[in-house]
Amino acid sequence: MFDLVVRSRRVVTSEGERPAAVAVREGRIAALYAYEAPLETAEDVDLRGLPLLPGLVDTHVHVNEPGRAHWEGFASATRAAAAGGVTTIVDMPLNSVPPTVTPDALDAKLRAAEGRCHVDTAFWGGAVPGNLEHLRPLHERGVRGFKCFLSPSGVEEFPPLGPDEARRAMAEIAGFGGLLVVHAEDPALLAVPAGPSYREFLESRPGAAERSAVELVIRLAEETGARVHVLHVSSAACLEPLESARARGVPVTAETCPHYLTLAAEQVPEGDTSFKCCPPIRDEANRDRLWDGLARGVLDCVVSDHSPSTADLKVPDFAAAWGGVASLQVGLPAVWTEASRRGYGLADVTRWMSTQPAAIAEISRKGAIKPGNDADLVAFDPDAANPVDARALHHRNPVTPYHGRTLRGAVLTTWLRGRPVDGEPYGTFLLGEK
Ligand SMILES: [Zn+2]
Repeated sequence: MFDLVVRSRRVVTSEGERPAAVAVREGRIAALYAYEAPLETAEDVDLRGLPLLPGLVDTHVHVNEPGRAHWEGFASATRAAAAGGVTTIVDMPLNSVPPTVTPDALDAKLRAAEGRCHVDTAFWGGAVPGNLEHLRPLHERGVRGFKCFLSPSGVEEFPPLGPDEARRAMAEIAGFGGLLVVHAEDPALLAVPAGPSYREFLESRPGAAERSAVELVIRLAEETGARVHVLHVSSAACLEPLESARARGVPVTAETCPHYLTLAAEQVPEGDTSFKCCPPIRDEANRDRLWDGLARGVLDCVVSDHSPSTADLKVPDFAAAWGGVASLQVGLPAVWTEASRRGYGLADVTRWMSTQPAAIAEISRKGAIKPGNDADLVAFDPDAANPVDARALHHRNPVTPYHGRTLRGAVLTTWLRGRPVDGEPYGTFLLGEK
C-alpha cells in the first residue's frame, strides 16, 4: 500500500525519459513500476503524456532574512520556489543581517526561517576576514559549505577575502573536507563605470576579471587541496582554465545562471536595471559559448542566483542600481525555453538544475527520481505558453528581467516529500545530513 502513485509516459530519470509509475511511501520514492501497473495506493495521479521531473535544487538563493526581509523572505522565496518547481533551496549567507558567518548568526537565520519554509532549505555559511575560527563550528552545525568574495560584495557587512585570507580559509576548509564557493571577480581588473549606460557597466566588469579570479581560485585549490565551486560563471573566458584544471584533477566545479544563458547584452533596454547583476550579462556570442561549456560538462549546473531587492534600489542608472537578478520562480521555464530551442531535452535540464546542484551541495536524498530519494516531484507542461508578469510572481518585489516575456513551459504541480505544496509551510532544514 502506497501513499501516492504518480504515473507519466515521460518520467525524467538519470537514464532519460521513460513511462513509469512512481510509487511513494512516507515521503520517499519506494519504487518505479511500469506505467500501467495496478498498485494499491491512497492517491493515484495519471499525468499521461505530461513529463514528471525531480524537484529542482537551487543552490544559489539570497533569501535576505533576517535583516532585509523587505527584499525577500523565507515565506515568499520558498513559495516562489515551489511554484517554479524548486523543492530545495540553499540560502546564501549574505544580504541578510547578520550574514551567516558565525554559529550565532546561523541561529538567527534558523529562527527567521522556522515555520516559514514551503520547500526544504539548506544554508551556506560565509568566509569573511576574521571569521576563520567559526568555519569548523559552522560546518559541524551543518552548513553545506562557505561562500566568499574576492571583490566587494555590494554590502559592507560581508567584506571580501584577500588572496592570503582566501588561502588560509581554503586550508582550514580542506582540513574538515568542506567546500568553498566563490564569487570570482578580480578586484584589480574591475573599474567604476564611466557612466550610467549598460555598455559602460559591462566594460567596467570585463570577462578578464572573472578569468583572473578563477585562475587564482584554481591555484589555491591545488595548493591547499580544498574543494572549490565557482559561482555564477558569466564569461566564457573562464571555460578554458576550468577545463584544464579539471583535466589535471583539481577538485573544482562551476555553475552558471538562467540569465546568462537566456538573456544577452544586446537586448538589455537602456535604463532597465532589472538586468543588472555581477558579473554582468554579456553578449550573444559569449552566451553561445556558455551553452557549449554546459553541454560539454565544463559548467556543471544552472542555478538562479536569485538576488532581489526593493524596486526603489533599481534606479535607471547601471552604475548606481543594486546588482542582482530575481528569477527564482521562472528559472525552469526560462532555461527550458532556450534549451529546447537549442535541441536539448528535459533530461539535460534536469541534470543541470536538479541532479548536479544536489551533488555539489552533497544533498544525496534529492536531485533524481529513484528509489530511496525524497519524493520531490514536479508535473511540468513543456509546451505551455507562460507569460511572465512580475506582479503575479510570489517574489516579494515585482522586479525581474523576464517581465513581459512569454516563456515556454509551466509547472502544474509540485510535490515535496510526496505531498503537494499547498498553503502550509512544511519544508524542513537540511542541516548536515547527507
Ligand atoms: Zn549570489
